[in-house]
Amino acid sequence: MDGGRPSFVQRRDPAAACQSCGGRPMLTFFTLPGIPVHSCLLMASREEALGCRRGDLRLAFCRACGFVANTAFDPSVHEYSARYEETQGFSPTFNAFARDLAARLVAAHDLRGRTVLEIGCGKGEFLVLLCELGGNAGIGIDPSYVPARTTSPAADRIRFLREFYSAAHTDLRADFVCCRHTLEHIGAVAALVGTLRAALAGGPPVPVFFEVPDVLRVLREGAFWDLYYEHCSYFSPGSLARLFRAAGFEVQELAVAFAGQYVLLTARPADGPTRPRLPLEDDLGALAEAVDAFGRVGAAVARWRTTLDDLRARGRRPIVWGSGSKGVAFLTTLGAAEGLVEYVVDINPYKQGQFMPGTGQPIVAPEFLPRYRPTDVLVMNPTYTEEIRQQLGGLGLAPDLLPV
Ligand SMILES: [Zn+2]
Repeated sequence: MDGGRPSFVQRRDPAAACQSCGGRPMLTFFTLPGIPVHSCLLMASREEALGCRRGDLRLAFCRACGFVANTAFDPSVHEYSARYEETQGFSPTFNAFARDLAARLVAAHDLRGRTVLEIGCGKGEFLVLLCELGGNAGIGIDPSYVPARTTSPAADRIRFLREFYSAAHTDLRADFVCCRHTLEHIGAVAALVGTLRAALAGGPPVPVFFEVPDVLRVLREGAFWDLYYEHCSYFSPGSLARLFRAAGFEVQELAVAFAGQYVLLTARPADGPTRPRLPLEDDLGALAEAVDAFGRVGAAVARWRTTLDDLRARGRRPIVWGSGSKGVAFLTTLGAAEGLVEYVVDINPYKQGQFMPGTGQPIVAPEFLPRYRPTDVLVMNPTYTEEIRQQLGGLGLAPDLLPV
């Protein structure tokens, strides 16, 4: 049932065209066959989790614009339905970041009594925040939206469309467009940004805000747990800005946030393609260097595997904290089945009682841990380490924490 082994062999792929700038060839630099195609889809049984649908990861780099993509990605396998459980809204750390960001966006763009459009709104938490904070009306577009999950008094000012954003939505009018953690799930990125630019044509220069993971950090840190099937498109600050500039936007702000994990871009429609002018955009050389050095990650994968083997050999009980995509990618890449890690913890109640796609571990609530008494907790997102230490302490537990 395990997928294949990771490979770091580099090879030019003349058949693959860059979905961001159209350039070719792409340079393939990391492959991992047979990984779960849905790391956020709820798996109700161990059998379903082990027998989940699989696809290949074949990461390739465009030397022209810095875009990184999974050229083996097949969009037809995806199911972004109500069974898709992607929210990070149960974490206080993530919530604090989202609240602070929403407050800053409301202040920066004077979003008061306006209409806000969110592309890929998930369960709608962030759109609700923007509407609550500024007394705004909202339009949220996402096929995985679940109406019962929105309880805010602002809900009657928000219209949710349970579908993918497309040219069919170009008549929707808004004063602000945001799109967080969505573009990395889309293969045809230039097509989506082009559709948005066309939708904004002829109107006032509506600000757009996009947030995606930062691939430059992933490559530099060798964060192989941040590479998974749902994420078919990977951006750095510069490559994201190049996409928007080529599509006819003026990029006004570019930043990295959330401990360097996310790229934040603010842009407005311009008359045509625009030229780079922000310091963070100049990263093509750094990206090429990071891609060339990515082979080192093979050693990191082997090291983590050895760490787990050693822990088990010493009779210890390691668990993973965080059943999201990072946890799935981490366990899948290591080929770590239930013999190595028996349980995965998640604070999201919708995940508890489900199973890890690909490797089959049961997902348990923190309240289960006093019974199992884990000796070592692998923390999938180090940003949450203190939050997790406090929760474990509250349960009377003090295992070793291993931030990944
Ligand atoms: Zn490109």
